[in-house]
Amino acid sequence: MASRFIAGEEVEDALRVIHRLNSEGFSVTLDCLGESVQEAAAAESACDTYLKLLDRLAAEKLNSHVSVKLTQLGLAIDEALARRNLGRIAERAALHNNFVRVDMEGSAFTEPTLRVFCSIDAPRDVMGIALQSYLHRTAADVEELLKRGVRIRLVKGAYKESPDVAFASKSDVDGSYRELTQKLLASGIYHAIATHDERIIAATERFAHEYGIGPESFEFQMLYGIRRRLQRALVQQGWRVRVYVPYGPEWYAYFMRRLAERPANLFFVVRNLLRR
Ligand SMILES: Cc1cc2nc3c(=O)[nH]c(=O)nc-3n(C[C@H](O)[C@H](O)[C@H](O)COP(=O)(O)OP(=O)(O)OC[C@H]3O[C@@H](n4cnc5c(N)ncnc54)[C@H](O)[C@@H]3O)c2cc1C
Repeated sequence: MASRFIAGEEVEDALRVIHRLNSEGFSVTLDCLGESVQEAAAAESACDTYLKLLDRLAAEKLNSHVSVKLTQLGLAIDEALARRNLGRIAERAALHNNFVRVDMEGSAFTEPTLRVFCSIDAPRDVMGIALQSYLHRTAADVEELLKRGVRIRLVKGAYKESPDVAFASKSDVDGSYRELTQKLLASGIYHAIATHDERIIAATERFAHEYGIGPESFEFQMLYGIRRRLQRALVQQGWRVRVYVPYGPEWYAYFMRRLAERPANLFFVVRNLLRR
C-alpha cells in the first residue's frame, strides 16, 4: 500500500522511477527517507548515502535534485553535527552542479533548521529550503530569506501543530499560502510552489500570466503518486513540474503523514486490508 507514495526500498527502485519521470518531462527531487535519528553514526551514514546519491545522479545524467531532513543528519543530537553533514552534502551538490533542498520538519525544529541552513556557506543556486504556510512566523521568515536571495519551496505544512504556532483553519492556511506565493513569484528568485491544490495552482497560473512571469521563472512541485493527472496536465501546458520522490526502508513516518492528509487515503487502506 505504501508503494503508492514511495518509489521503493532500494536506490535502484528510485533511480528507475526517476528515469521514467524524466522521460515524461518531469524533473525530480529525491528523498532518501529517514528522520529523527538518535545516534551520530546513523546521521553520518545518512550523509554518506546522500553523497553517493549525488554521485549516482550525476553519473546517470538524471535531472534530479535531492531533498534532506536535518534531523536525519543529526539535528536532534547536535546542531554542529547536522551543520557539518549538510555542508558536506552542499559541497558535493556544488561539485555536480546540483541542488539540495532542506525539508522543513515540526515546529520544534524550525528555528534550528533555519539557523543551520543559513550558516552554510554555499552559493544560493546550490541550496534552498522549504517553508510552511501554516506557521504564523512564515511571513517573516519569507521576508528574511528573500533578502538573502534564498530559493524557497512553499508548502502548507504536514505536521500536527498547536494553534500557538500555526493557523488552525484550512482557509487561513490556504490564504497564507496564496499571499506568500504572490510574494515569492514577484521576488524574481526561482522558487517552488509545492502543492496539489488545484485552486491555488490555477491562481498561481493566473498571477504568473498577469505579471508576465514565465514558466522558466519558477516550478510547481508535487509528491510522487499524488494527483498524477494534474502533474501531467501542467507539463503539457508548458509548466515546470518537479516530483518529490521518496524511497528507502524508513518509509513509515512519511507514509503516515500522507495518510493523515486525506481521509480518503484511510478508506483506501481499510479497503485493501479487508480484501486480504
Ligand atoms: C514537493 C513537496 C514537498 C513537501 N515538503 C514538505 C516539507 O518539507 N515540510 C512539510 O511540512 N511538508 C511538506 N510537504 C507536504 C505539504 O506540507 C502538505 O502536507 C501536502 O502537500 C498536502 O497539502 P496540499 O498543498 O497538497 O493541499 P491540500 O489542501 O492538503 O490538498 C489539496 C488536494 O491535493 C490532494 N492531496 C493532498 N494530499 C494528499 C494525499 N496525501 N493523498 C492524496 N491526495 C492528496 C487532494 O486532492 C486534495 O484535495 C511537501 C509537499 C510537496 C508537494
